[in-house]
Amino acid sequence: MIVIENLTKVYRNGEIEVAALKGINLTIQQGEFISIMGASGSGKSTLMNILGCLDRPTDGYYYLEGIDVSEKNDNELSAVRNKKIGFVFQSFNLIARTSALKNVELPMVYGKVGADERKERALELLNSVGLKERSGHMPNELSGGQKQRVAIARALANKPQIILADEPTGNLDSQSSVEIMEIFKKLNREDKNTVIIVTHERDIAEFTDRIITFKDGHIIKDENLTEVTPCS
Ligand code: ADP
Ligand code: ADP
Repeated sequence: MIVIENLTKVYRNGEIEVAALKGINLTIQQGEFISIMGASGSGKSTLMNILGCLDRPTDGYYYLEGIDVSEKNDNELSAVRNKKIGFVFQSFNLIARTSALKNVELPMVYGKVGADERKERALELLNSVGLKERSGHMPNELSGGQKQRVAIARALANKPQIILADEPTGNLDSQSSVEIMEIFKKLNREDKNTVIIVTHERDIAEFTDRIITFKDGHIIKDENLTEVTPCS
């Protein structure tokens, strides 16, 4: 469902040019569970921004379900983004002065879903991440792991096919990290979402089925963790 061909991204600040992605080729099938690893500055966030339709490549192609996203204008890009993509961030990015429930409802307000349906769906989503009893809590009354679960519920509000998570466990202790990865796994296995996460930690990456490693704007390794090695 995602096909990337010879994708290049060059940032230009006046005289200075930085090539963040240098001709990436990548195919991701619908329903894959993938992690992206690599040192700081290797191009991971740049790729996530392009995958998430937050930014455009300088050169090359990005096809999302056969649509050439690289050619879309800003309005078309944001329409694709709002319909198809859910984002989860390292620092949760919840609205501080509003309840868990309202945070989850917010994308549906922009999606023009009616108030009753919005509330019902937000409660269902909070229930699915194990937070139904906390729906009235403010973000500062929740632990890091709980905040991230609210953020995941919010990412799911408009029923995206693709979940993109940049360092989703970067601010969490190891037990909460495992719980969050189990939720991503469930979303992938049961709801058939395509889930792509960036992480620095191999232990976290190993929850997924495929680890793609970046170095200096290139993919240097693409590992399939699901292949069964035959015993001899
Ligand atoms: P990572 O997520 O792996 O840390 P990034 O994609 O953020 O890597 O960055 C890749 C390279 O592009 C780095 O050299 C970074 O400094 C540069 N870069 C990223 N964003 C910008 C930008 N907006 N302007 C200029 N250079 C950028
Ligand atoms: P991450 O922690 O995900 O790798 P960074 O800290 O590299 O993210 O980047 C944070 C933001 O700053 C991103 O939006 C990125 O595009 C931008 N950025 C990164 N490097 C540069 C740079 N050299 N010049 C301008 N903006 C940059």
